[in-house]
Amino acid sequence: MAIDIVSGDESAAVAGNLLSVRDKIARAAEGAGRLADVATLIAISKSQPIQRIQAALDDGQRIFGENRVQEAQAHWTELRGRYSDLELHFVGHLQTNKVAEALALFDVIQCVDRPKLARALAREIARSGARIRLFVQVNIGEEPQKGGVAPGVAEAFIADCREQYGLEIEGVMCIPPEGEEPSPYFALLAGIAQRVGLTNLSMGMTSDYEIAVRLGATHVRVGRAIFGERQPPQGAKTNHTPPGG
Ligand SMILES: *Cc1c(COP(=O)(O)O)cnc(C)c1O
Repeated sequence: MAIDIVSGDESAAVAGNLLSVRDKIARAAEGAGRLADVATLIAISKSQPIQRIQAALDDGQRIFGENRVQEAQAHWTELRGRYSDLELHFVGHLQTNKVAEALALFDVIQCVDRPKLARALAREIARSGARIRLFVQVNIGEEPQKGGVAPGVAEAFIADCREQYGLEIEGVMCIPPEGEEPSPYFALLAGIAQRVGLTNLSMGMTSDYEIAVRLGATHVRVGRAIFGERQPPQGAKTNHTPPGG
C-alpha cells in the first residue's frame, strides 16, 4: 500500500491524514455501537522524518509509538522537554539489556512477552521506582518470527506477571498475520483479555484499524496512514530482531 506524502507540503498532509484517521476511528466505533472516542490513537512514528513527527505534534497529536529504543531516544529525548503531555508507547521487541533505557523514556511498554523480560522489568522498576504501564503481547497467529506469548499460555503468563513478578498489566496487544483476514485474531485476543479481566485491547494498524475498532480495540497503532511510507535512514540495515534477549 502506498500512502505517500508529497514533499513540500508534508505538514498539511500529516494533518489531513490525522483528521481522516480520527474520523474513521470515530465512525467505526459508532457503527459498532461504541462511543466515538473509545479508541486511543497511537501514532507510530518509527522510521519517519522528524518533520512529519513535528507536523503531528503541531496538529495536537500527543500519543506516539516506537519500536526501537535507540531510534526513539533520537526522536523524543529533546521533544519530551518541549511537550510535557506526551505519551510514548514502546511497541517493538524489548531486549532485557535495554529495559532501564526503555523505562526512562516510555510511558507504556506494550510488548511484555516472556518471563525473562517480566523479571527484568520487575527488577528495574523496584530499583528505579519508574512508573510504567504494561501490556502483554500475544503472538496471536503463532508466527515464529513474531514476538509475543502463545495464545494458549497467555492467561497463565499474565497470572505469573501479576503474582510472581508483581507487575500490573493493563491490557493485551497483538499483530495478526499479514495478508490474512484479521477479525478472527482480534476476536481471539478479546477473548483472552476477557478471561483475565483486562479491558484494554491494543490492536489494529494502517491496514485494519477500522476492523479492530469494530471488534473492541481500545488502542490502535497507526503509522503509514498518518505519516506516509516509512523512510529508513540512508545506509541503515534492515531491522532483524535478535532471538532471545
Ligand atoms: C510499525 C508498527 C505499527 C504501525 O504499522 P502501520 O502499518 O504503519 O500502521 C503498529 N504496531 C506495531 C507493533 C508496529 O511495529
